[in-house]
Amino acid sequence: MKGSRKLDQLSHPSTLSTANAVPLSQRERLSCRDVLLLLVLLLCSFLPFLFFGWNESPVVTAVVSVNGETIHEIPLTTHKGCESFIVETPNGMNEVTIDNHSIAVTDADCHDKICMKSGAIERRGDVIACLPHKLLIELR
Ligand SMILES: [Zn+2]
Repeated sequence: MKGSRKLDQLSHPSTLSTANAVPLSQRERLSCRDVLLLLVLLLCSFLPFLFFGWNESPVVTAVVSVNGETIHEIPLTTHKGCESFIVETPNGMNEVTIDNHSIAVTDADCHDKICMKSGAIERRGDVIACLPHKLLIELR
């Protein structure tokens, strides 16, 4: 019996006394500082967003290369309309079509036509490859 009472006294005061120890005026001042801190944190949380916004969105560029050598760099994000051009490689030709913000191989004389079957790509990181022609279209 005596033991359990002692435990009660021990567990209560520690939690209550800290909350009561701070006078009301000081607590209000603390909450004011908290609001300021929150505002600063809120501002800070926007910074990476802005930073990444600038970093992420600029322009997706289509890099067309043959045998590792870059032959075309086309900014896709700002591209408007539809245009095609022929890429002549030592192993054959590919017709590349840029339709607004997407790029595709629309014709090729390679044997597997995998490059044509890849369809149009428009997102950073997308790739179209024509292995027989060693042609690569990469979006960066
Ligand atoms: Zn191909």
